[in-house]
Amino acid sequence: MTDTDKNTRHQLRMARKKAIIDASIARAYQEKGLLLVLTGNGKGKSSSAFGMVGRALGHGMKVGVCQFLKSRTDTGEEAFFGKQARCEWHVLGDGFTWETQNRAKDIATSERGWAVAQRMLTDASYDLVVLDELTYLLNYGYLDADQVLDAIGARPLMQHVVVTGRAASDTLRDLADTVSDIADVKHAYRDGIKAQPGIDL
Ligand code: ATP
Ligand code: MG
Repeated sequence: MTDTDKNTRHQLRMARKKAIIDASIARAYQEKGLLLVLTGNGKGKSSSAFGMVGRALGHGMKVGVCQFLKSRTDTGEEAFFGKQARCEWHVLGDGFTWETQNRAKDIATSERGWAVAQRMLTDASYDLVVLDELTYLLNYGYLDADQVLDAIGARPLMQHVVVTGRAASDTLRDLADTVSDIADVKHAYRDGIKAQPGIDL
């Protein structure tokens, strides 16, 4: 095949592809508040959620972030987004459950945190609400999963919600509009590399 033939074939193939892509874009015309679930054992769940926080703030949207489970307040994301006028940042954890080793205390902490999230989920002025590491509270039974899913389902129509954490339940996945299951292919931690500022915190 000559170069001219190759170029003609390529152009025809791309024209067909463009027609298919344009048709699929034309079909996606609806707008609504989305529920996204970022789960799986690989790295990139919370950092993806914070990427959307940046996008939303760039559009002048109001954002609420609830960080469950974790108690550290020295992260780059909090230092940066916590300063943004349209971003409300709450660290609502008490440390990992294997650190606290106290179920009753974990439940009380979870309920206090959930009250903050609930307030956002009933306030249409928040355009995006991030519930970071929420899945653990549901999977450990610290929060009533039905009650949490009902509250997410009953949120204001245009409000987006992002839930992160490993092992999202089937009911949470079913409720979601978009689900990403991030695979753990490799992680530097297993080579003995400690958490790096800018990458892990
Ligand atoms: P990130 O906040 O970096 O997007 P994540 O939200 O996907 O990570 P978490 O389970 O919340 O993952 O863990 C947070 C911390 O643990 C981060 O420092 C991250 O790099 C690290 N981490 C994530 N996945 C793994 C893994 N598979 N093995 C070891 N460490 C991990
Ligand atoms: Mg995370």
